[in-house]
Amino acid sequence: MQHRHVPVLQEQLVELLARGPGEVILDGTVGLGGHAAALLRRLPRARLVGLDVDRQALASAAATLAPFGDRVHLVHGSYAQLDEHVHRLGLAAVSGIVLDLGLSSLQIDAASRGFSYRAVGPLDMRMDPEHGTSAADFLAKATAGEIAQVLRDYGEEPLARPLARAIVEQRERSPLRTTADLAGVVERLVSGRKRVSTLARVFQGVRVAVNGELENLGNGLRRALGVLAPGSIFAVLSYHSLEDRLVKQFFRAQVEGCTCPPDLPRCACGFERRFTLLTRRALRPTPEEVAANPRARSAVLRVAERVAA
Ligand code: SAH
Repeated sequence: MQHRHVPVLQEQLVELLARGPGEVILDGTVGLGGHAAALLRRLPRARLVGLDVDRQALASAAATLAPFGDRVHLVHGSYAQLDEHVHRLGLAAVSGIVLDLGLSSLQIDAASRGFSYRAVGPLDMRMDPEHGTSAADFLAKATAGEIAQVLRDYGEEPLARPLARAIVEQRERSPLRTTADLAGVVERLVSGRKRVSTLARVFQGVRVAVNGELENLGNGLRRALGVLAPGSIFAVLSYHSLEDRLVKQFFRAQVEGCTCPPDLPRCACGFERRFTLLTRRALRPTPEEVAANPRARSAVLRVAERVAA
C-alpha cells in the first residue's frame, strides 16, 4: 500500500539545515523518507544516515530514497542511541541532526498497528513491534495507579483516575484486546463534546508510555551533543507540549546555562555555550499547511546551531 505522507514544515526545516556544512545528515526518525529526500535534493553533496525503529518505515524510506543511491544509509535503530549508530559507521561527528517526533501516516493509517482510536485493530501501539510491551499487555498488567499516572503524565488527561479505574474494572470482565475495547471504556465514561479529545489524550498517554517516548527524547537530545560538529544544525519537530517542553528546556539550558551573577565580567562557572538558537521563537505551520496536512496541526519546530568549542 502506498502511503501519502506529507513532511511537516519541510521547507523551513530544509533551509535551516542548509545553513550548516551539510556533509553528513543524521535523520533520527527517517520514517517514510520525506524530509530525507528533500534534504538530499537541497544539499547535493550531503550523505544521509536514516534511523528508524519501525522496519515497515525503513522499507518505505528505502524505496523513496533509492534514487539517491549510496548517498543514503538506513539503519534499524533508535535515536535514543544515535551517537552509537554514528560511531558504528566510523563517523566521529555529523553536520546535522533531524528528529521528527510522533507518528508517521503509515503508523496512524494502518489499523493493524493499533495507534488509532478511529480504526479497529489490535491494541499494540509499538513503534517497533518486534520489541517491548504492547499496549494490551501494559494495560493488562499495570495497576490502576500506574495507568492513572500514565494517562495524567503522558496524556495530560484530567480524568486519569476514573478512566484508569474503568480500565481495570473492564479488564476484570474481559481483557482489552483491540483499540475498540479501549475506546469503548473511554466512551462509556465520557460522551458528547469531550469524547474525541479524551480518546486522543488516552491513546497518546498509552502510546508515549509503551514506546518510552519521553525517555528516548531525553536520551536523544543529550547524546546529540556528543556528535554534532561545530557549525552543525540540530532540528527537532515535536507534536505535543510534553515533547516540546523537553526540547525547549534542553536548548535553553545549552544557550543560557551560565549561572554566574550578571555583574561578573567573565564567566566563572565553567559553562560552555553549546548552541545558538536559529528559531528564537518556535516555528509553527501556517493554517494553509494544517488544512492540507492534518498531521501538521500541533507541530512545533526548534532549530539550533552547534557553536565551535
Ligand atoms: N520525517 C519523516 C516522518 C517521521 S514520522 C518523513 O518525512 O517521512 C516519525 C518516525 O519516527 C516514525 O517512523 C517512527 O517509527 C520513528 N521513531 C519513533 N521513535 C523512534 C526512535 N526512538 N528512534 C528512531 N525512530 C523512531
